[in-house]
Amino acid sequence: MATAQISKNELKFVIIGAGMAGILSAIKLKEAGFHNIEIFEKEGEVGGTWRENRYPGVACDVPSHLYCYSFEQKPDWSHVFSEGSEIFNYFKNVAIKYGVYDSIKFKLEVTKLELKDGLWNVTTSDGKNTTANYVIAATGVLHHPKYPDIEGIDLFKGDIFHSARWPEGYSLKNKKVGVVGTGSTAVQIVAASIEDVDQMYLFQRTAQWVLGVPNDVIDEQTREKLKNSPDELQKMRDEISRTFTAYFADAVVNAESKEANMLQESCLFNLEFNVPDPVLREKLRPNYKAACKRLIVSPNFYQAISRTNAHLITDHIVRITESGIEIDTGETIGLDTIVLATGFKVDAFLRPMTVVGEDSLKLDDVWNPRPYAYMSIMVPKFPNLFLLNGPNGPVGNFSLIDVAEIQVDYCLQLIERAIEDGDQLVEPKTEATQDFEARRVEATKKTVWVTGCNSWYLDDRGIPSVWPWTMEKFRDDMKQPILDDFIFEKVPSNA
Ligand code: NAP
Repeated sequence: MATAQISKNELKFVIIGAGMAGILSAIKLKEAGFHNIEIFEKEGEVGGTWRENRYPGVACDVPSHLYCYSFEQKPDWSHVFSEGSEIFNYFKNVAIKYGVYDSIKFKLEVTKLELKDGLWNVTTSDGKNTTANYVIAATGVLHHPKYPDIEGIDLFKGDIFHSARWPEGYSLKNKKVGVVGTGSTAVQIVAASIEDVDQMYLFQRTAQWVLGVPNDVIDEQTREKLKNSPDELQKMRDEISRTFTAYFADAVVNAESKEANMLQESCLFNLEFNVPDPVLREKLRPNYKAACKRLIVSPNFYQAISRTNAHLITDHIVRITESGIEIDTGETIGLDTIVLATGFKVDAFLRPMTVVGEDSLKLDDVWNPRPYAYMSIMVPKFPNLFLLNGPNGPVGNFSLIDVAEIQVDYCLQLIERAIEDGDQLVEPKTEATQDFEARRVEATKKTVWVTGCNSWYLDDRGIPSVWPWTMEKFRDDMKQPILDDFIFEKVPSNA
């Protein structure tokens, strides 16, 4: 039987994943006095998406000074928008500094979570089991590559791979390259490698709006100044955060807002001004509102695709052959390399892990036909299982680091409350979860994501699976859990 005086060190935490959110969770748990932590990471290094994505040009489209932990700000970022390798090194350094590596079990994937007598039984890929009082799933969102269903994909005799599975050290130099897809990833690859490749063929199914924000180098003097003045650094972060929130994050949740229209005008200006060839310009012109699909930020994509060795292919792909890609004009474009920049399975939260909660309920069944969670954090009947950047959260429109910090703080409040009088178990009420979901769905009607495009934001019903309100509302709503929306229970006495 649980007692009211349970010591924090008696409570075991399992964190799944050692990416941005997993590292953060470990740091915050330790800070709160919970030291019995085991982190399972399926790969051999920390860093998540920034370890995995190493294609040419990989960078973050959230400004560097905002894309770092609030408690570990980096004064010496090299660029306004940093490259993937710099961000990867940042996470490694933070993990080292806070002793997170000591808690990580690398090369172990969690394959099953099963609730037994109020404890989570955690099975890993080596067949072993451990138990945990609390599980934090920090498994990432844009993580499982989505391969296109194109006939003949296995026939190609050259090199073919998904953008998130870039072979170590693979160079596109002097190659005839085909890139399938026109999302943020494809745009970054094209812009970064156009000078290296022999020919670049970009296969566009849908045109994208591109915001032309310059990516300036941060000079030595500014870096020195920021290093010597934490106040200046904080001021700069606050300013960037305000601007980013007002002109981007809040604009997307109100399609009719002045800010949403400004985004549209800015993208239009980029297209009109930076694509001199009128035929190419028309091919690149989207027929939907800017930011309906995830907005692309690039200082130089239009310049790259306008070069003589760049070819924008808008004819449909018929099949992949041994030598290249056949399009519906009957032509086969001969290629050395095909990069599938075709995105990710965004509803694969926790999957392919098997998760079994109360009453032998399987999460896969609960999430059929689609995933949901109370405040994107917890699912009824799955007590003590916390999801960071979980279903319908503010993904894609805010800095995910900000979001994860707010979520971890919220989870910690729930855990502290749960152990305060020895209850230990916490889960959201079903009615509260249904109410949240109904309000969320209603609010999506005003957002830019439903203004007439297809995107990974939309679920099987065409409803955006994201937080449909402002960042300010997210901060407010997540400041303190509404305790009435939760059930706090004791661990069963036979545990
Ligand atoms: P994405 O935005 O989902 O784009 C996938 C692209 O592949 C789309 O252009 C899609 O066309 C195309 N596609 C998919 N299946 C296809 C098929 N069978 N035939 C032809 N085209 C096909 O993927 P992503 O570019 O990897 O980006 C995913 C997300 O990762 C972004 O939205 C962003 O949130 C994040 N990201 C961020 C950064 C950054 O911070 N700068 C960089 C990279 C990625 P349709 O549009 O017609 O569906």
